[in-house]
Amino acid sequence: MRKNIVAGNWKMNTTFQEAEELIADILDSLEEQAPNCEVVVCPPSVYLELASDYAGDYDNLLSIGAQNVSEYEKGAYTGEIAASMLASMNMDYCIVGHSERRKYFGETNQQLALKVERLLEHAIRPIFCCGEQLEEREAGNHFKVVENQIREALFHFSSDEFSNLVIAYEPVWAIGTGKTATAAQAQEMHAFIRSLIAEKYGNQTAEDTTILYGGSCNAANAKELFANKDVDGGLIGGASLKANDFVTIARSF
Ligand code: PEP
Repeated sequence: MRKNIVAGNWKMNTTFQEAEELIADILDSLEEQAPNCEVVVCPPSVYLELASDYAGDYDNLLSIGAQNVSEYEKGAYTGEIAASMLASMNMDYCIVGHSERRKYFGETNQQLALKVERLLEHAIRPIFCCGEQLEEREAGNHFKVVENQIREALFHFSSDEFSNLVIAYEPVWAIGTGKTATAAQAQEMHAFIRSLIAEKYGNQTAEDTTILYGGSCNAANAKELFANKDVDGGLIGGASLKANDFVTIARSF
């Protein structure tokens, strides 16, 4: 069965004290009224233990994810974080291939394939990001771009492996810009992604895959986006830094 998920990507924001306050506020609010979806937060890696400890105190109302992982298993890779390290801290999820990682750190589909492989080896669910740039959409190439990202990074996995993945469609032109994709644009791309999965892995796997939308999703537009049959929740950037907004989004199903 497909699961609805709302995941917050805090990116490189918050001090330790702010992170503690944010996580506590989110958990207090979730405790009052649990939403109809799995809620995940992905804080900076230095706060993962903090977030995980807090979530544990609240009966794990919240799942915790990392924002990035190394494609290597371990060793002399200064500054990197291995999937085994995340697993040893009981991380549930890890974002892979966010457009900021692709753009600023030159991550390629081949590298992302290795990152996904490392995570799957350690039973951590990858949230795999894909999405086109504005020029690619304007040139009518958005479906092809997303298809290539998914095919090159993911379609060599077995269907058992693939069933652990969450896909996040994040049109790059909508991330952090306040320019959300329309509900129709999101639904169209999500249905397309699901059809690719069906073609490769069969209808059941496609039906069971959670596909999130990301890109200026907020407390005001989440309901309309999530009402689409192929939109199973959101990957939330800016709005995940405000507890009230984030929990409102999670309650938008
Ligand atoms: C993101 O960074 O994944 C994202 C969707 O950001 P925002 O919600 O701020 O557009």
